[in-house]
Amino acid sequence: MGRSRTEEVEDLMGRFPGVPREAVIKEDLLRGGIAFDESALTGEEGGDVKPKSYFIFSFDHRTLPELGAAALRRPPEEIVLTGGPYGLRRTVVSVRVNPQSPYRVGVTPEGALGLMLDGRHIADVGLPPMPDYYRHTLANGKSVMEVAPTIQWGYLIYLTVFRVCQYFGAKEECQYCDINHNWRQHKAAGRPYTGVKSVEEVLEALEIIDRHDTAGASRAYTLTGGSITSRVDGLTEADFYGRYAQAIEERFPGRWTGKVVAQALPRADVQRFHDYGIRIYHPNYEVWDRRLFELYCPGKERYVGRDEWHRRILDSAEVFGPRNVIPNFVAGVEMAAPAGFTTVGEAVDSTAEGLRFFMSRGITPRFTTWCPEPTTPLGRSNPQGAPLEYHIRLLETYRATMDEFGLSSPPGYGPAGPGRAVFSVSSFMDSLLPDSPSGV
Ligand code: SF4
Repeated sequence: MGRSRTEEVEDLMGRFPGVPREAVIKEDLLRGGIAFDESALTGEEGGDVKPKSYFIFSFDHRTLPELGAAALRRPPEEIVLTGGPYGLRRTVVSVRVNPQSPYRVGVTPEGALGLMLDGRHIADVGLPPMPDYYRHTLANGKSVMEVAPTIQWGYLIYLTVFRVCQYFGAKEECQYCDINHNWRQHKAAGRPYTGVKSVEEVLEALEIIDRHDTAGASRAYTLTGGSITSRVDGLTEADFYGRYAQAIEERFPGRWTGKVVAQALPRADVQRFHDYGIRIYHPNYEVWDRRLFELYCPGKERYVGRDEWHRRILDSAEVFGPRNVIPNFVAGVEMAAPAGFTTVGEAVDSTAEGLRFFMSRGITPRFTTWCPEPTTPLGRSNPQGAPLEYHIRLLETYRATMDEFGLSSPPGYGPAGPGRAVFSVSSFMDSLLPDSPSGV
């Protein structure tokens, strides 16, 4: 008989004492998802708990029709874990639903919410309160949650202004990405899910947030969406995303730290983002290994190419400064069949090579933990995702490489350190030392 998940988790906690226990649990929840008892669902937008907004991808292990009640009565956007037998410090985790997960959120016999692993209570669970600004609607009837959801416990306003990607179909879409399917499934379910958000509605939603976020929890916004290979609203990618940046910074100069996730664009386009007031640029390189990039990111390879992508990342550091160029990779797809590495050691070594390439130049990549969504080619062939050990060793390697090159936690992610981090889609911030003000 195989080991239980509890045994696997505790074995890794013992073997990697430098990785906080909070990060071990968080990575396992992000890679494998969480089951929810019905009593732990939110009751949608009229309730007291902030619901999952589906801010860009589905980040679920089942489709909406398969999830049933868990989809109709939304789960929370995030949960916060504390206490339990591992003495967890406050840990914010993005919610990815998987009814088959050994982790389950439900009501304990004492009447509180708890996280169970293999049937044993391992943490107390807190839910995000419904923010005041979610209780208001725009003049056109849309909700703030639809137009400008916040994540990371309210720190980041996530503006997916273009909800589809022009890399389309099996020959172009990144093989782990469900952005286009997620858009289709929300439309099919009759949910409001705006394909292209207008500048006016984004500004109106931000005005509502600005007015009602009196505690100042929201500190940054991210402009993002699918890649644009031709035009949207008659605009190229840089002009399309740039128009929101320009409008936001004109209306709310410096109110939030502005970030853009876009393709690695030519330097003149990148300069325009900076001129509009954007401060952080995310030209995501997705996966470091050349062969895997070519196979798993066929659109990016075809339209830009891996070498050119990397060259443009380095160019953009001259515009934004290396600290403010933060390319993302999707941690775990290195180990996805059919073409991925088959041992944890090889996968971590490859990823480390990419980290060294960028960190030696002062650029700090960051990563999201891969969620094997079922409608993607890699999710279908790897429903278990990557081994937990890969994620734990990556955290160790990431921190060691940062230390080697004298880097501290990247700006725009809130505080670092276990018990302090709010970044919810990987635990890289939970695994760094509590930082310097530069990390905020
Ligand atoms: S570029 Fe790739 S990861 Fe990004 S939205 Fe398009 S298909 Fe998804």
